[in-house]
Amino acid sequence: MKINHHLDESTLVSYVAGSLSQGMALVVATHISLCEKCRESVIETEAIGGALLEQMDSSEISDTSLETILSQLDEEPIAEPEKGVTDQSDGLVPPPLRSYIGESLDSINWRRLAPGFAYVDIFTEGAGVCRLLKVSPGKSILPHGHRGSELTLLLRGSFSDEIGRFAQGDIADLDDQVEHQPLVDKDQGCICLVATDSPLRFTTLLGKLLQPVTGF
Ligand SMILES: [Zn+2]
Repeated sequence: MKINHHLDESTLVSYVAGSLSQGMALVVATHISLCEKCRESVIETEAIGGALLEQMDSSEISDTSLETILSQLDEEPIAEPEKGVTDQSDGLVPPPLRSYIGESLDSINWRRLAPGFAYVDIFTEGAGVCRLLKVSPGKSILPHGHRGSELTLLLRGSFSDEIGRFAQGDIADLDDQVEHQPLVDKDQGCICLVATDSPLRFTTLLGKLLQPVTGF
């Protein structure tokens, strides 16, 4: 699996600090289970956080503390991340998701949303939503912006939007500055795991009218 789109640093820091919503943390954990690069970043972020906490215990943090810690970390080899990246070519669900939707992408109990769209809810509590979305080949998702953040992890298939092309394992980590309209590639439908931390802001009348139906 060649992953081209990764988590933002700010999302990684929030994840390590435990301040993401349950749904967004699940999307991050699932991407990390597939992505060696982001897994290494998490280990690094945890090390920085731990070192900062130690400093806070002993004395006040000076302006140069972070710099010192970073240079120390450069000298220390980063712990080898766990091996065993999930191979998804056979439709296996990544481990963090299995207790929610089972082990196979092919035996999910989909609920129909609209022609070409189906979903399974994972978390619906709190301000955001976390759900699995299946979109048919060639379909486009209505253009929308975000009031908060949106994480979209591709588990199968691919789509393109204003930012680029996203394929299996890629994560679209979007903040409230981005408006986009993902278009699913024509050769294969896509399955993605999506979490938002507040309702989406649809930019077309059709999107606004459908919002109560789409649930985002
Ligand atoms: Zn990554």
